[in-house]
Amino acid sequence: MREVVVAANWKMHTTPADAGDLARTTAARTREPGVTRVICPPYPCLAAVGAALATADPDVAVGAQNVHDELAGAYTGEISAPMLAGLATWVIVGHSERRRDAGETDELIGRKLGRAVEAGLRPILCVGEQLDEREAGLATDVVERQLHGALAGRDPAETNAAGLVIAYEPVWAIGTGRNATGADAAAMSDAIRSSLDALGWGDFAAGMPVLYGGSVTSTNIDTFLAEPSIDGALVGGASLKPDEMAGIVARAGMTARARGLAG
Ligand code: PEP
Repeated sequence: MREVVVAANWKMHTTPADAGDLARTTAARTREPGVTRVICPPYPCLAAVGAALATADPDVAVGAQNVHDELAGAYTGEISAPMLAGLATWVIVGHSERRRDAGETDELIGRKLGRAVEAGLRPILCVGEQLDEREAGLATDVVERQLHGALAGRDPAETNAAGLVIAYEPVWAIGTGRNATGADAAAMSDAIRSSLDALGWGDFAAGMPVLYGGSVTSTNIDTFLAEPSIDGALVGGASLKPDEMAGIVARAGMTARARGLAG
């Protein structure tokens, strides 16, 4: 049975002074057996969140929102995978805001993924189409191209062992209040698994968690988790609100129980 994962992407919100409190409150409100919870704060808040969770709820993992594709060097302002040791155990790669703002390509994202795996970080690889691409009927082609660009040449067994999670995040749904339908998200999740199969990752496709992300709230999470091929959510804006996270993770807990993961 596939793992159920809810990951919080705090984006460029919180400071070291307030991040620990938010992490503690979120952890306390989201204790659901069988659900893997991850909080991804900004880099300067990783230590504060890690310290808060170590005492409040060590079951909640800490993730970074990005990682550089080189190990060290003249890259002012960047953070490499080895630098995250002791601060994070997960990392988001290929978020559409980084594709948009930092011009990240699929090939670069693939190298970041490789660095994450080498460093023992669990990667969440984000893929998703723009609105015009969906309207032109190209959504699946775009996501397949992104997966191929990031994963071709990577070792499937090693990447799977690192715990790769794929997040389908249609760009037009991120931070817009407009979400995909459960049926569309499920169809893309199936397409992602077929695409992994075509890449030669077939042995792992069926077991790899696929999350939906894009304006997820406690109100619409059921739409996604009612779909057997969706294994959780990557949550942006709503992850800053403990009430919202409580509702989202409670619904994920239902899925975990139905899958026999709740112990
Ligand atoms: C995200 O940042 O990955 C995201 C899905 O954001 P939001 O939930 O705000 O759309």
